[in-house]
Amino acid sequence: MTGTRARQVIVTAASVIDGKAIAAQVRADLIPDVTALRDAGIITTLAVVLAGDDPASQVYVRNKVRACEEVGIASRRVLLPSATTTAELLHVIAELNADATVHGILVQLPLPRGVDTDTVIDAIAPEKDVDGFHPENVGRLMAGRPRFVSCTPAGVMRLLAETRVVLSGATAVVLGRSRTVGQPVAALLTAADATVTVCHSRTRDLGAVTRTADVLVAAVGRPGLVKADMVKPGAVVIDVGINRLESGALVGDVDYAGVSAVASAITPVPGGVGPMTIAMLLQNTILAAKARLSSRGDRGAPQ
Ligand code: NAP
Repeated sequence: MTGTRARQVIVTAASVIDGKAIAAQVRADLIPDVTALRDAGIITTLAVVLAGDDPASQVYVRNKVRACEEVGIASRRVLLPSATTTAELLHVIAELNADATVHGILVQLPLPRGVDTDTVIDAIAPEKDVDGFHPENVGRLMAGRPRFVSCTPAGVMRLLAETRVVLSGATAVVLGRSRTVGQPVAALLTAADATVTVCHSRTRDLGAVTRTADVLVAAVGRPGLVKADMVKPGAVVIDVGINRLESGALVGDVDYAGVSAVASAITPVPGGVGPMTIAMLLQNTILAAKARLSSRGDRGAPQ
């Protein structure tokens, strides 16, 4: 006997965090709330404003409207031409703000060239801003008193919660610092007691930072940026990225095949964060309708 033994290499695939299934459950759980609101005389209603003819935006709007219908939320589509001006959009927003039967307002982004997006978002009544993009709602999140948490970051957190990932004390790395995804995700992870590092296009030696992560969230918009050697063995990887390749395939920011062999859990694209974003939009719309119900109090006024 030589006493030497062949080293065993055990390759285990990460478990897949099934955002599609989790989102379906979240949506199902929302139905009793919509029914209760209806019984109280409130038809939960989301207005979706789409300006222009961007095909991806049209698909997103269609999916959102369909998801609303599925849980019994009424939707109102406001379709505007590509030539819509900021002033025209402000007029539409003012009408929706004043309409007591509308509980949530969503303006599908991107808006046509020439429209001042910030001005339009700022015009949405904060209590109807179910996308959570209004500065008041962003500020409330940062102040630790959230009203509407924007949908994608809320979806990321819900996926982590449903997967029973322990965030307290975990090292988390967020790739991307956008106002809509990276920054709020980092704020939410911090609030959940993770130790958070945010990376961006100027971060030096990205891999050295990402390899420290127990929880890695990628929200960059670069297909396959995160490779297996950038991931700590056993990490939980949440891929927010949605990238359309020339072949037509939809991929995330993470090299799914490679990283699956290293991570303990990973979200696929599609079927990970995307469905959760819509589920969180429905949840926020119901929150808005509930707030309307409590502000109505027992005065019995119509919606
Ligand atoms: P964004 O506004 O373009 O921000 C991208 C961020 O990534 C920026 O902070 C940028 O850094 C950083 N970045 C770019 N290249 C990088 C690199 N090589 N290394 C490290 N960081 C880099 O994008 P976003 O709106 O946050 O969206 C990010 C991705 O998520 C996109 O693919 C988008 O389609 C997707 N998304 C998905 C959902 C969903 O429902 N699943 C929702 C929203 C967005 P700088 O700040 O330095 O420029």
